[in-house]
Amino acid sequence: MPSEKDGVMIILSSPSGAGKTTLVKMLSKMENFEISISHTTRQPRPNETSNEDYFFVNEKEFKRLIKNEEFLEYAKVFSNFYGTTRTPVIDKLNKGKNVLFDIDWQGADQIKNKNLDYKLISFFILPPSKEILFERLSNRDMKDKLIAEERMKQFGRDVLHWINYDYVIINDNIETCYSKIINLIHAEINNGSKDYDAEYIRNHIEKLTS
Ligand code: 5GP
Repeated sequence: MPSEKDGVMIILSSPSGAGKTTLVKMLSKMENFEISISHTTRQPRPNETSNEDYFFVNEKEFKRLIKNEEFLEYAKVFSNFYGTTRTPVIDKLNKGKNVLFDIDWQGADQIKNKNLDYKLISFFILPPSKEILFERLSNRDMKDKLIAEERMKQFGRDVLHWINYDYVIINDNIETCYSKIINLIHAEINNGSKDYDAEYIRNHIEKLTS
């Protein structure tokens, strides 16, 4: 049973370009919320800071961490490795901090299946439409533009994992989306009533996948 004093694990996943990283950063500004910084073998983007956005490591170092069993979860995403080291997460949770994870569905599944003694709330963020997603993916730097089409194909596969999450949130407006997530987190922590329209979500997913 999770202890009342322990922090809560909050996972945000989404197909690439749905705005999840921005949301995680906004949520991390709340008192007592901290982001779990992942390790990755991907090259840093121009706007990214090492040890803040990610711990950027080479494949040899990543494999060493796997061998030493330091990862709580790890996965290969778009031909790069990404992983969450266990110790910093557990330390934060034991200090009563709520930990935010910006990870893909593979990592979310792994954490869920571990059945850790901490409360877990998972969110799957979706774009308002496929057209808007393509626009968002193409608006990044030139190198990313080249992989926007590849990521659109991936979208069709990733979206199917919505079913394994506690809540699906549509990011049509970042502030609204942020408030919905905060309200659901508070409702989950305090056993309050939840403002969540599962029927509307199912209809939206049908449109995205048709
Ligand atoms: P990006 O390269 O755009 O920063 O991230 C690509 C994907 O990898 C995103 O879906 C992101 O959530 C996911 N990701 C980032 N860190 C981790 C991690 O530690 N573990 C897993 N499983 N996925 C991650």
